[in-house]
Amino acid sequence: MSQAKTIHLHDYTAPSHHIVHTDLTFEIFDEHTLVINRMQVRRMDKESGAMTLHGEGLTLLCVKVDDVKAEGQFECDAEQMVLQCDKDEFVLQVVTKIYPDENTTLEGLYRSGTILCTQNEPEGFRHITYFIDRPDNMSTFTTTIIAETSRYPILLGNGNLVETETYAEGRHMAKWEDPFAKPSYLFALVAGDLGVVSDTFTTMSNREIALNIYVDRGNENKCDHAMRSLKNAMKWDEEVYGREYDLDIYNIVAVDSFNMGAMENKGLNIFNSHYVLADEDSATDQNFMGIESVIAHEYFHNWTGNRITCRDWFQLTLKEGLTVFRDQSFSADMNDASVQRISDVKALRERQFVEDAGPTAHPIKPKSYVEINNFYTATIYEKGAEVIRMLHTFLGEEKYRKAMDLYFETFDAKAVRTEDFLWAMDQQGGFDLERFSRWYAQERTPTLKVHEHYDGVKNEYTLTLQQVIPANVKGEKQLPYYFPLAFTLLDRDGVALQWNLADKRQTLLDKGMLIVQEEEEKFTFTEVTTEPKLSINNNFSAPFKIEHDQADYGFLMQFASDGFIRYEATQKAAMNAIDMFVENGEIDTRYLVNFAAILEDESIGLEAKAFMLELPTLSVLMQEQKEIDIAPISKALNLLKHALATRYKDTMLTIYQQFHKPENSALDAQSMGERAIKNAVLSYLMVLEDEDINALCVVQYENSVTMTDRIVALDLLENYAPDLAQDRLVHFYARYKENTLVMNKYLSVLSASEREGTIDRVQALQNDPVYDVKVPNLVRALIGVFARNAVAFHAPTGHGYAFLAEKVIELDALNPQIASGLTTAFRSYDRLNPNNKALMKDALEMIMNEKEISSNVLELVQKILDV
Ligand SMILES: [Zn+2]
Repeated sequence: MSQAKTIHLHDYTAPSHHIVHTDLTFEIFDEHTLVINRMQVRRMDKESGAMTLHGEGLTLLCVKVDDVKAEGQFECDAEQMVLQCDKDEFVLQVVTKIYPDENTTLEGLYRSGTILCTQNEPEGFRHITYFIDRPDNMSTFTTTIIAETSRYPILLGNGNLVETETYAEGRHMAKWEDPFAKPSYLFALVAGDLGVVSDTFTTMSNREIALNIYVDRGNENKCDHAMRSLKNAMKWDEEVYGREYDLDIYNIVAVDSFNMGAMENKGLNIFNSHYVLADEDSATDQNFMGIESVIAHEYFHNWTGNRITCRDWFQLTLKEGLTVFRDQSFSADMNDASVQRISDVKALRERQFVEDAGPTAHPIKPKSYVEINNFYTATIYEKGAEVIRMLHTFLGEEKYRKAMDLYFETFDAKAVRTEDFLWAMDQQGGFDLERFSRWYAQERTPTLKVHEHYDGVKNEYTLTLQQVIPANVKGEKQLPYYFPLAFTLLDRDGVALQWNLADKRQTLLDKGMLIVQEEEEKFTFTEVTTEPKLSINNNFSAPFKIEHDQADYGFLMQFASDGFIRYEATQKAAMNAIDMFVENGEIDTRYLVNFAAILEDESIGLEAKAFMLELPTLSVLMQEQKEIDIAPISKALNLLKHALATRYKDTMLTIYQQFHKPENSALDAQSMGERAIKNAVLSYLMVLEDEDINALCVVQYENSVTMTDRIVALDLLENYAPDLAQDRLVHFYARYKENTLVMNKYLSVLSASEREGTIDRVQALQNDPVYDVKVPNLVRALIGVFARNAVAFHAPTGHGYAFLAEKVIELDALNPQIASGLTTAFRSYDRLNPNNKALMKDALEMIMNEKEISSNVLELVQKILDV
């Protein structure tokens, strides 16, 4: 078993040396790449006679100090080089040889298809050369790339292109210069034969920026949406944050093999092709939305992440939480804000709440880690964004903008901490910094218990709020939170009631926004003329679970003015109905009746309505169970769906016919909404296993021009009419087998299938020619989706667990990051029923007993088994 070393935030010390400028030359050959790295070094700690550089898996050829061979002056081990040198300023030259073609970890320089590309966040650069590979070492970079012209006609680096040259023997050179100091994790290089789509953007100070998207040849026509999204993002950041782009050129490169979604390297973003390429025939509406948000996210990092970066990786949420908040706000402005909010909260609950409830729970600012790659989590990103959103609520738009301006002004070109960000926010006042900071230090999702009392004689309404703060993973007590809580008191017709707050010492942020800060707090409202209905945590103003026994979800489904609350009420009402069925086998008829309030309300936007009609997922329902047992909730869910479809068959068919427009592929909100709503009702109707409806679904597969319609139809046939699915699956495969991105969808439909035998089909698909274990997207589509298929993964035989353990071990040898991503599926271990728990334990022990397991996987398995 490998030794796992824990790194603690409190051990931070500044580096003894600073690499002021880095001049890199990459000579790319068929078998290897030569890296000549000339660093201008400044000694920061005058006491220090030694400089430590990170480096892993490198073949070292030469080390020189001020152009003199540094013989006997340095020592290397598997992770670092220690150089003895007591000069204050010197030029350190290191020459290394690397083998990108053999690099399957996809960190550092590696091959994706015919392209050579890099991924250096967080610690990939040390696989390229020896360096102070930590974010607080900010350096300017010059990059010279030399390669064979025919194989690598395109040579890209960070910053601006300053020189090109053609050499003898069919080789050429490109030199890039990035004038902005940056940490090595933002370094990027791309070499390959690529097609390009170009455009320009004129900034607010009238500078013209060249925009290029590089893709595999033949895919140039699939970049329109990405380019449009980029220009929208550039404009939005100028208008909303006053931030202008700083280089003359902005390049995006799409690659097929990528561990993450995309990477914000300065001036040279590298993207998983999933987040660039799209056309109506191959991408769903969701894919288009995803592209818009990821393109924007990486662009926004130019200021929040690149210009101002993190001092160390414990600060990751400084750039990620903030940038996710920025991309969510952008998407809300580009689309329907309430739909955006519903989808963000839904994602938070399905991913982050699950993480927060399990053994790998951590604060948005962790205090320790073994493998930093394991901390690119929903907590750091999505919960981090909720924390920024609360600050935004406390400050209000105007003060928030001033605080952000101050943040940019004060910390530009620096590597800073979350405390520095909070300092800038605090300069505008408006919130209690000390109490608010707990959101950075504590873990687990808190619950807010809500109790109401109305006194009709005094016209007085009392709201009692109790924060239930779970202990952290170590069992230590945590403190109550300080947060904004949006609410409305409604009369019987859904009209907002007037009121006054009795105790003037309690603060209101705004009319309708309480500031909550105590473990238990009472708010008394006077002059409330009728017994109100409470709508609470409107627009999900704070990341709490709400426990509100007196809530009238039927009323809120019908009358809440806040779109999020209407969605929330339908979810809660469905959860209660499922509980009731699991407890006593009865279907909650009130819920069935109330469902009409959403289904038949024509005033709700179509996309929002499609969300509201969705039943809670198994992942959400599992979280509510004391002891996880899939069969009863899965059965209840299906029966509820069946009961709704039976009761509302005619209405649903009418909606389907009204909005099914097979020829329409437009991407405007109305068209996307029409597709969303009719696919939502179709997914109910298919449960009925009715011949005529099956026929509708087949026609939708065959006649619709959009991938959205086709993939929904294929998925429904696979789950509810497998006999009809067979031919369509064959047809789909034949039509798209050359398109990996579409094949991901094909694999996902099969591995998400809830019918019998899914595991066997998934195992067989590993031998399919379209599958490649070295391409993370394919692994995620087949194995990752299977691990999230609660029915198949948690099968009482334990076969799902054993299969995943096998895959984790196999992948860990190739790509530890992808392997640890799959391992997170085991996080429910502690809460499983005894049968499943014993079986999962066997699978986890199988991984633990493996000799050569990476620290990525080991850290997770140890936390899960609590060893
Ligand atoms: Zn990011």
